Amino acid sequence: MNDTPKYGFDTLQVHAGARPDPATGARQTPIYQTTAYVFRDADHAAALFNLQEVGYIYSRLTNPTVAVLAERIATLEGGVGGVCCSSGHAAQIMALFPLMGPGKNVVASTRLYGGTVTQFAQTIKRFGWSAKFVDFDDLDAVKAAIDDDTRAVFCEAIANPGGYITDLDAIAPIAAEAGLPLIVDNTSATPYLCRPIEHGATLVVHSTTKYLTGNGTVMGGAIVDSGQFDWSASDKFPSLSAPEPAYHGLKFHETFGSLAFTFHGIAIGLRDLGMTMNPQAAHYTLMGIETLSLRMERHVANAMQVAGWLEKHPKVAAVTYAGLPSSPYNDRVARICPKGAGGLFTFALKDGYDACVKFVDSVNLFSHVANLGDTRSLVIHSASTTHRQLTEEQQVAAGAAPNVVRVSIGIEDPADLIADLEQALAAV
Ligand SMILES: *Cc1c(COP(=O)(O)O)cnc(C)c1O
Repeated sequence: MNDTPKYGFDTLQVHAGARPDPATGARQTPIYQTTAYVFRDADHAAALFNLQEVGYIYSRLTNPTVAVLAERIATLEGGVGGVCCSSGHAAQIMALFPLMGPGKNVVASTRLYGGTVTQFAQTIKRFGWSAKFVDFDDLDAVKAAIDDDTRAVFCEAIANPGGYITDLDAIAPIAAEAGLPLIVDNTSATPYLCRPIEHGATLVVHSTTKYLTGNGTVMGGAIVDSGQFDWSASDKFPSLSAPEPAYHGLKFHETFGSLAFTFHGIAIGLRDLGMTMNPQAAHYTLMGIETLSLRMERHVANAMQVAGWLEKHPKVAAVTYAGLPSSPYNDRVARICPKGAGGLFTFALKDGYDACVKFVDSVNLFSHVANLGDTRSLVIHSASTTHRQLTEEQQVAAGAAPNVVRVSIGIEDPADLIADLEQALAAV
């Protein structure tokens, strides 16, 4: 799928996966608003259903607009293939689905998006799966948590709610040694700031809802496969290595090689779980992704300015932005996300929970919303919202303690952002 590796990132974010529409010459990727595709004849239809030929059958599985987006994201991540789906949370389930089974577990970082903590700690139990949460700075604890039933290791590159960068170079060898795929959620970093596959990630998942779309319009998710994992090296991944009864005994890894995970994601994952991205959403995300690098540069520059200003404010107890020299994770920026530590961070108010609530009620330019990665600057008090279902211990471990406010710094004039924070802090 990665057909244009010679171009740089800024070129690929505009062109990868797209070509003028073969039917009309349309330069922009059309929105193929169709559920089905006419078969040439009965033999063609049979070949498509047997996975002997690649083509379009029904938009629950594949759609030309969505396919352009999947190829674009896969190319930007340096993967061999990608699958788009309906949301970031869908992407996580789709990534785990071929690996897990009843009684199997995923070893996951404690520093994750709150919704992911809930999905992993509670909801996946309904499938008989479980998650073991570990501090990923404690490498011995990560090793110790891996057991015979572990099927994946999961973390975020730059962890939401911000300020933490996972040392992917230290985690990837631990997963590799145990014969396990490393799944990295790269939502907060985006492939412009961090390319997890270059650090040893097997799979990269995204909430395209955030920076990839970039303007808060549509939900979406993506899974990118590095193509580098040997699914047949052990008997741990029978969905990929053993005969698949739902396809006449076809073995995905043997048949599709490095594209096994991608084909499984479409042919089994989307077909049977149905967490499909619609072509309208793919269109909006394709529009957004064309300017990804430009936006990320501005998000980073603004976040540096705002975080530096907040750090000196007398009502602020601490700022977690990894881009600041004061951050314990600052030394990981150059290695893991060399173009910057993103636009997302938290800060703690000296006056605690009530001050945070007053603060989010006092901002004007910042919007108080449960989202991030928008061109607009956003703020949320995680402990009373996104991380509300977590225990206080989990909140603290996730970086969302009761006295902490999370900001997603947009691409507005930094002076205007600072002025708004200044008046809101004065009201506290
Ligand atoms: C938002 C988010 C998700 C979930 O994505 P949705 O598109 O909201 O389902 C997962 N991981 C991270 C890091 C996120 O920010």
